[in-house]
Amino acid sequence: MVKKQTLSVKAIKNGTVIDHIPAGEGLNILHYFKLDQLQKCITVGFNLKSDTQNHKDLIKIENIFFTEENIQQIAFFAPNCTINIIQNFQVIEKITPTYPDQVIGIFKCPNINCASHTEPVKSHFYVKNKDNKTKLKCHYCEKIYPFEWVHK
Ligand SMILES: [Zn+2]
Repeated sequence: MVKKQTLSVKAIKNGTVIDHIPAGEGLNILHYFKLDQLQKCITVGFNLKSDTQNHKDLIKIENIFFTEENIQQIAFFAPNCTINIIQNFQVIEKITPTYPDQVIGIFKCPNINCASHTEPVKSHFYVKNKDNKTKLKCHYCEKIYPFEWVHK
């Protein structure tokens, strides 16, 4: 009899596992948070088979815990992902990031003439969803930008 072998990724002791990322977005998340530049142990899986999606990406990061703000940022890349917080090999919390209505103090307005650059204020965008594309409307200059323009 052939012993069934499964390819398993080592469990992490403490850290964060982002699961059910739409295939292709895992790399974007890595780059966005510059996770590849941290001196941390990171395990990634791209295009894994999934029960609920055709393919998914997965990221395991040891000893990193995301802030509330970071979790909202993840929602832009993977609104239906699951963020598992691991402590001592146990999942202590499962979070599905919620798409924020407003984003304050994270992104910079692409408009160089926008008051948010000269006034002592935090950037402030309203999140809009049009034709399945995320757009951000600046509170100060009131212009609407595709998400890709703002998060670069
Ligand atoms: Zn603006």
